[in-house]
Amino acid sequence: MSEITYEFIREYLQAIQEDEDEFIDHIRQEALTNGVPIIKNEVKQLLEVLLTIQRPKHILEIGTAVGYSSIIMSKYLDEGGTITTIERSKDMIDVANKYIKMAGKETIINILEGDAQSILPNLNQRFDFIFMDAAKGQYISFLPYCLKLLRVEGILVSDNVLQDGYVAKSRWSIPRRQRTIHGRMREYLWELNHNKALRTVILPIADGATISCKLKEGE
Ligand code: SAH
Ligand code: MG
Repeated sequence: MSEITYEFIREYLQAIQEDEDEFIDHIRQEALTNGVPIIKNEVKQLLEVLLTIQRPKHILEIGTAVGYSSIIMSKYLDEGGTITTIERSKDMIDVANKYIKMAGKETIINILEGDAQSILPNLNQRFDFIFMDAAKGQYISFLPYCLKLLRVEGILVSDNVLQDGYVAKSRWSIPRRQRTIHGRMREYLWELNHNKALRTVILPIADGATISCKLKEGE
């Protein structure tokens, strides 16, 4: 259970939500039933606001899962826009393809199958918006590629950066098996805050999310 937000506040915010589109809600329910870690509502709304402001043409997502966040983001693309989304699990891709087809977005959302670690170095298209939502221990190694692929004034959003609050706790207070990922996520957040090419805000919403704007090309 998340330790970074108060349950009564989340419940209140949930209660004042507008009703969700039936199809999106169907994907959400099925994903939750199957234990797929899709974005929480606060992050969904965060993406929707940012994308409404930016109207990106090309979005890159790392971590498709069943296509829930991709399908949501695809509504906010500029005309002729595309989403490139990376996923390594064949089972997830099968489900994602089914939903993407049902949503009529098969020509807009393109899934790249494989590990982001090997796919990212081979991408050469520029992106306006990048959504990082894959294995948390890998964000720090994906970052240099994201910086290169993102255009100046482009936006990088990353999800689950606080890991139920563990990231903010001392290394010694958390289970040994989580320490590597804890260290890597701390390194990632440090880099987002200190990299001269980025302006970042770390938001303690949902499971922790960051928004970074690329200010200039890296040196
Ligand atoms: N963005 C989705 C949820 C993604 S869950 C949504 O909100 O709807 C994270 C997904 O990232 C999982 O499906 C997992 O298989 C995938 N993943 C994790 N590490 C990866 C990697 N290195 N390369 C490709 N996919 C990865
Ligand atoms: Mg997530």
